[in-house]
Amino acid sequence: MPEDMKSMTERELKEALAAMGEPAYRAAQIYRWLHSGVQSFDEMTNISKKLRENLVEKYYISYAAIEKKLVSDYDDTRKYLFSFHDGERVESVLMKYRHGYTSCISTQAGCKMGCTFCATGQGGFVRNLTPSEMLSQIQTEQKDNGIRISNVVLMGMGEPLDNFDNVMRFLELVSSENGMNIGMRHISLSTCGIVPKIYELADKKLQLTLSVSLHAPNDQIRSRTMPVNRKYPIETLLEACRYYAETTNRRISFEYAMIDNVNDSHACAEELARRLKGMLCHVNLIPVNTVSGTGYRKSKKERMTEFMSVLERAGIAVTVRRTLGSDINASCGQLRRSEKED
Ligand code: SAH
Ligand code: SF4
Repeated sequence: MPEDMKSMTERELKEALAAMGEPAYRAAQIYRWLHSGVQSFDEMTNISKKLRENLVEKYYISYAAIEKKLVSDYDDTRKYLFSFHDGERVESVLMKYRHGYTSCISTQAGCKMGCTFCATGQGGFVRNLTPSEMLSQIQTEQKDNGIRISNVVLMGMGEPLDNFDNVMRFLELVSSENGMNIGMRHISLSTCGIVPKIYELADKKLQLTLSVSLHAPNDQIRSRTMPVNRKYPIETLLEACRYYAETTNRRISFEYAMIDNVNDSHACAEELARRLKGMLCHVNLIPVNTVSGTGYRKSKKERMTEFMSVLERAGIAVTVRRTLGSDINASCGQLRRSEKED
């Protein structure tokens, strides 16, 4: 079985090429080609034909092929359906902001976590993505649009901390100097709250932004909408978040999807404010995006405003997130493995 070359670190590549009798600078050249997004060894024009032939026998270069692309009429957001070498598919979203382009990538095909408001969760789990498959989503989007992506969010399909080792390797590769060189401060990772992995991540002291999908102020509501809460209840999760903020000195971003009559009452806002008091954090309120079959509706405007002011009065930083790409089902929680649209 050929090996996945784009998932190798520059150091591993150097060692592998040294074993083939190649000098270190050759590994550096190949590494740069891989991270510029080439899809075959033949595109590496400064590498001899003989070496390219040897490489093809031992390695393959993974890439994300475009199966479908949708462009939002409202805001230029682009949603891609990509396929990988085994035919497995994921979606990814490219967004344009004033400060540049952000790619929202998937880390798994499907997801095991089963959150009741999320389209990905409804579709079940297929497999983890490799580090190279995460990189490839960004590379194909750059190529297809002739742009450079400056920010990456791990908020597409899948739970990044349930694919921990591959995600850590992806982070190392995407931020490497000879790779895409996207700094950790330009990367956000979103988790539903896999507590032991939050501790593990904290101890790595990376400068990325951690987003935690909270979506409820107590165990009763959270266990109903997010099954992961039955394993890691809210206080255990918030304890891990406090540890994360203290260890990394980075502010945690809590995501809170506002669902009509589920988690948007005045009492919910007060309970949330009590729990978060004193923590280095920020709350992002998102009107829940509609996903067919869930039966959930967005909270009313007045409810959102009231919820926000309760948090503000308690001294908690809070914003309402702008929804991008809603006309093409490219918003949070709307990504699927198929072409089916609701
Ligand atoms: N698995 C990770 C990251 C991918 S989901 C996580 O859950 O954090 C990306 C974000 O979209 C998460 O904050 C998730 O809770 C949110 N989300 C899922 N379904 C949603 C919906 N229908 N409306 C709004 N946000 C949703
Ligand atoms: Fe998985 Fe995140 Fe969707 Fe929950 S919200 S099912 S963790 S992708």
